[in-house]
Order: sequence, then structure tokens, then C-alpha cells
Amino acid sequence: MPPEIDLILYNAAVRTMVSDAPTAEAVAVAGNRILAVGTNTEVMALAMPATRVIDARGGTLMPGFYESHLHLFPGGVSLGQLNVAAIFGAEALREAVRTFAAAHPEADLLVAFGANYTMLGDDVRISRHDLDAVIPDRPFYMIACDYHTGWANTVAMEKAGLLHGRDVGPASEVVMGADGTATGELREAGAMDLLMALKSGGTRDTLGMSGLEPGPLTEAEREADIACLLAGMEYCARHGITKLINMDGNRYQLELLAEMERRGTLPCRIEVPYRIPIDAEGDPIAKAVEMTRDFATEKVSCGRVKMFMDGVFDSWTALKLEDYPDRPGFRGEPIVPPDLFARLCTEADAAGLQISVHAVGNGAVRHVLDGYEAAAQANGPRDSRHRIEHIDNIHPDDILRLRDLRVIASMQPVHPPGSAGLPLEPTVTLMGRENWPWAFNWRAIRDAGVPICFATDWPISPLDPLHAIHCALTRRPWAEGLPDPRLTLDECLEAYTLQGAYAAFDEDRLGRIAPGMLADMVLLEGELESLTSPGGHMVRATLTICDGIVTHEAT
Ligand SMILES: [Zn+2]
Repeated sequence: MPPEIDLILYNAAVRTMVSDAPTAEAVAVAGNRILAVGTNTEVMALAMPATRVIDARGGTLMPGFYESHLHLFPGGVSLGQLNVAAIFGAEALREAVRTFAAAHPEADLLVAFGANYTMLGDDVRISRHDLDAVIPDRPFYMIACDYHTGWANTVAMEKAGLLHGRDVGPASEVVMGADGTATGELREAGAMDLLMALKSGGTRDTLGMSGLEPGPLTEAEREADIACLLAGMEYCARHGITKLINMDGNRYQLELLAEMERRGTLPCRIEVPYRIPIDAEGDPIAKAVEMTRDFATEKVSCGRVKMFMDGVFDSWTALKLEDYPDRPGFRGEPIVPPDLFARLCTEADAAGLQISVHAVGNGAVRHVLDGYEAAAQANGPRDSRHRIEHIDNIHPDDILRLRDLRVIASMQPVHPPGSAGLPLEPTVTLMGRENWPWAFNWRAIRDAGVPICFATDWPISPLDPLHAIHCALTRRPWAEGLPDPRLTLDECLEAYTLQGAYAAFDEDRLGRIAPGMLADMVLLEGELESLTSPGGHMVRATLTICDGIVTHEAT
């Protein structure tokens, strides 16, 4: 008996991502696998009475997008918050918050996200007084576009018990003003979570950012969280994404996702790491190994640890190799001390785990490479594919170390200042003029032979992979004479498919359209070449298929 053909897509411009057969016209799917790839005539000959046949009308059919770095739970939550990424000026903010507040009369805490550090003026460090002028009478909290800083109005600061400062642990800060009270600015999770605890639903969505587990929960709370994860994943499917590499993680998220898989409601595949807490007690590597053993299906897996080495430039928490231009003698601090980091890397590597570390400044990248090198020396060479997340800056010497240590560069085309609506300042000044040639330099890193996977860090930046690719292709240099860091359209598409699969050890089953591969695909409508034109693009995902199932279909 020939296998039952469930689905055929024909009349497509198939981009297979297979080097010796890069194009085709049609694809047949049996169950959750691709059965055949070929011409319309070849593939249509396989059709059976029960086969669903879809005319792609000349659209581009590609492997489903990998989103190699996102935060699903906060992303799902953000779908119900106020997005202020495009807002500049106090008046515009007041208007937006008033409308949002009126629409959410029951909210314990009004939350906005995506705020630019300079949204109220190039020289204005946002304070609670600024936000009191926006909304004085209800607790309001606004999260920066990079999620490393937040600002609250006075009512919210009082309610959270932060108005007179508080010790919030290492690497976090309640910023204090000259008058001895808090300014309203909160830096990093230790401070930010205390404010977010005011909202209904608490901070369960951000616990994974710190690697913590929630306390006892009611059935209703668990179901609310499942609904939130599902909303986030459906949003991903609408953008053609079929696999998510989550970048924060705890056991709780994996339990919810496994429950969704049992119910058959998962619209995407997802990998969730164990985020090693800063002051981890017990044996964090043993916990990651346990999570890896307990969650290991084709759709829900662990296999990885996540750490942070630094923060971001805009709050002086990025770790640099040189002094900050406005703070002589100060280069930032490593979040994990080098000795501890080397030990954690060595233990994780010995346990067969992949390691992902957030490193934005060139100093952080170097510290992470030192740790990976220590692990490789202790354990011997292995196909480890450890990753560095972001790499906003890198010292040129370290590009070759990335290659030699076979590290994967996980980068976000929507993060360079000047792209995706982000202002240039204060980031580019704090980064230092001398580092601009090595800022987000995808070209130099790829040409050195380092695998690059692309992502958005959603909800920190907009999720749409096509928007991210458009940003990558239309990026403009910050000054004359700087090297062009851009990749080609084909290279960008690879970074979202083939390279994403490689970065997740999935290259034998995902990231290409070929017989035997798992059936994860996206159909795009519109001219792909329009992604390179500066004014905007005309491409969108009209059909997403994950594991042979249609997870999004544009009407
Ligand atoms: Zn992230």
C-alpha cells in the first residue's frame, strides 16, 4: 500500500534550502513528513481522493521559520499590553495611556512595553514624575524596548514598596534620586519583577527569565497560563514560524507545554532551556539534565541552559572592553564571575547540554568565549554548538575565536539602533565610536565561517520574521566609511531556516524541504525581492504548516 497523501501544495516557487536541488514546483505531505518534492506533474500524480490539494498561486514555499531567540510567555502576555514602541513625546504617551486605561478599567496595573529610552526627549531620563504627568491616579508601569529597564509612576512605586528604595539583589537596581527617594527607574529583573507583581496573574510569565518556579497554583491559574502560551504560539504561526527557541525557561513552562502537546493544541514546536538563576542553590546542571530527560518529544524539548553575562548599553549594564565614554574607569560588570562561569560551562558541556549566553558588549562576548574555551579544554572537543545571544559588539580577534570554538552567533536584525524604529541614541554613543565597525556585523561574522541564526527576541522587538529580514536588508550605516554588515536575501532566509535548524541540532529533520523531512513549511505571498527595498515590503505568510497540520491560513 502506498502511503496516504494528506496534503499537496502545487504551483509554488519552492525554495527547498537543499543545495543540489534548490527549487521545485510542488510538495506532497504524508502524515507529518514530506513525502515528495518535484514538478507539478510529478507530485500531482500522487494525489488520492482524500488528499487536500492547495494551489499556491505562484507563492514562495519555504521551510517554516525558526525563531531562534524569543520569550514566549512574556510575548503572550504582551499581546494584552500597550505597545508604545512607536510613541515619542509626553503628549502622545498621555493620549495612548488614557485610551488604554479607559479600555482596561479593572486592571490592577496598567502595563506598557516597547518604550524607547529617549521617548520623552534625547536628554530626558524618564522618571516617575514624568509618568505621574501621564497618569497620576492608577498604577502605571512602562517597560523599555529591551526589557532591561522599567519605569513606574509614584502610585505604582508606593504600592510595590519601592518608593524609598530596596535591596533587590545582585545586578539589579532601584535607581535612587538626589532627594533620597526612588526616581521610578528599575533596572533588571530583581527590581522589575517586584513592580510586575502588582498585576493580576503576578509574575509567572517572567519567572523563567530568572530560572525560578512558581509556588502552588490553582487549576484556573494554570489554565490562564496555558491560554497565554497558546495565544503567543498562534501569533507565531500567523507569522510563518514553526519552531521557537525560547530563551528563558523553567520546568513550569515545560509542564504547561507538555500538557498542550497531550491535548493536541500546540501550533509550533518549542525548545525551552533551563535558565540558571544567578544565585542558584543546589545543582543547576542536574536540574537541566532532568528537564532534558523529562521533556524530549519532537515538539517540546529542553537540552539547554541559558545564562546572562551582561545587560544592555542604555543602562550601562553591557560589559565592555573599554571604559564607557561618559564614565572613565567603568566598563560594566560580568553578571557571572569568570571562575563560576567556567565551572558551569564545563559541567553543562560535560553533561551534553548546549549553552546559550546573553552577551551584548564586547567584554561580555570575550568572557563567554573564555568559558566555552575552558569547557572545551576540560572536556575535549565535541559537537557542542554553544551559542552566544546578541553579540551587539565584538572585538575583531574574537570573531576568529567564535569560529575556532565552533560557537553559533544568534543575532537579531531588529536590534541595531536605527533599525526597526529604535533611535540611535543613547546606544551608539555609549557603545563607543571605535566599536561601530564591529557592531552587529553579521557579514564579518558569517564570512569568518561562523553559523548565524536570526531571531527577534520577541516581545522585545516585533516578531514578524519578514519584517526582521527587511530590517537586515535595508540597514543603513551609522556613519560614512563603516563596513556594510548586511547579508544577502538568501543568507537571511538561511539564517531563519537552515541555520536555525543547525543551531538547534535539528538539521536532519527540519530547515529544508526534502523527502523524509518533518513537514514544517510556510507559504509566502508577494515578491521576496521587495524585502530589499527601503520603503517597505509586500510579503506576508498566507499558510503555515507545522508537523503536517495547517496552523495558519490567511483568509
Ligand atoms: Zn532575549
